[in-house]
Amino acid sequence: MKHLKKIDPPIYKVIQNEAQRQEENLELIASENFTSLSVLEAMGSVLTNKYAEGYPHHRWYGGCENVDVAESLAIERAKELFKAEHVNVQAHSGSQANMAVYFSCLNIGDTIMALDLACGGHLTHGHPHNFSGKFFKVVAYGVDTQTQRLDYDKILAMAKEYHPRLILAGASAYPRIIDFKKFRQICDTVGAYLFVDMAHIAGLVAAGVHPSPVPYAEFVSSTTHKTLRGPRGGFVICKKEFARKLDLEVFPGIQGGPLMHIIAAKAVAFKEAKSGKFKKDQEQTVKNAKALCAALIEKGYRAISGGTDNHLFLLELSSKGLTGKEAQEKLDGCGITVNKNLIPFDDKSPVLTSGIRIGTPAVTTRGMKERQMQYIAEYIDSALKATNEKDCLKIKKEVRVLTKKFPLYPELKGK
Ligand code: PLP
Repeated sequence: MKHLKKIDPPIYKVIQNEAQRQEENLELIASENFTSLSVLEAMGSVLTNKYAEGYPHHRWYGGCENVDVAESLAIERAKELFKAEHVNVQAHSGSQANMAVYFSCLNIGDTIMALDLACGGHLTHGHPHNFSGKFFKVVAYGVDTQTQRLDYDKILAMAKEYHPRLILAGASAYPRIIDFKKFRQICDTVGAYLFVDMAHIAGLVAAGVHPSPVPYAEFVSSTTHKTLRGPRGGFVICKKEFARKLDLEVFPGIQGGPLMHIIAAKAVAFKEAKSGKFKKDQEQTVKNAKALCAALIEKGYRAISGGTDNHLFLLELSSKGLTGKEAQEKLDGCGITVNKNLIPFDDKSPVLTSGIRIGTPAVTTRGMKERQMQYIAEYIDSALKATNEKDCLKIKKEVRVLTKKFPLYPELKGK
């Protein structure tokens, strides 16, 4: 980055510092991952200079012959990867992907059903300060008080009572397999659209490690940067009959010019997700989540729903005398990055919370396996119990020893 270093030293420094933080710390935020160098190269390319409003071969600007190839490849690869009838790869983010879906099949004021935020739903699933909560009547379903899992009979009963136009399945913090077939049956019973937000599990779905929602749902939205390990962005899959409407809602409905450098990077990520290595990594991500969760349960922590089937789990910390906020800060001080998270039936505010969310995609991308999860469980336990600076420094050092053995971007070492 010799040009940046010369022209804008403060921003250069930010990037260097962040590279160092990512290299040295243990990244356990469930929605984060490390992209490949190929994805980074596509993102950092001259494609960012190009305006390309419209869709491949139907643009409002000249000179789109190269970016047309990139977007067509992204679409075709995503269609093949997820066995989809139609894909739009232009959504700038997961939130915009969700907005495009709602606008494709709902009118303002329609009723939707979605997972309660405290039980794992996302802001775009109906939070009152989000467009979703402002534009639509939102009926939130939760999880069972005992099992902390989705209760499909209860969801059906609610659907019969509230007659939603659309039911949303999918979550930011739900550690169990979601039964999309059951959601389809519920939707068919009440005549609702099924919309699955698979942002968190897209990589697992691509690798066949989590059942796919695509055969069941009219609409499936996703981000590209979580388990899928692509650039920061979104995309939407839909059945053929909604293709034209969806494309119109993305552009010109809610967006202007697509981010062609990001779309090219999405194409790269979709290609990488077809590989045997990606499949193995996704399997390992789940094995690692199970191993880390089990090791923490062994140490006396309570995991929501008792464990995990996917890439993440939630720990309840009130019983340990900690809020999620305190736990996040303690772990941060020891070089371990997680996020505080509401847990089902939480009595604390979203600013404090009673839990933390832990995910294994990023450490798995670094090459860590079950053995390393045992060490990480030790570090987490010690960090949460640490009472002074000396304890923290000791854990931080151990974390550095571990992360050094699993370098990020080993291809760049020595260059
Ligand atoms: N949907 C789910 C389930 C998410 O977890 C997220 C992000 O965390 C989003 C949508 C929104 O994605 P973005 O942050 O790209 O807008």
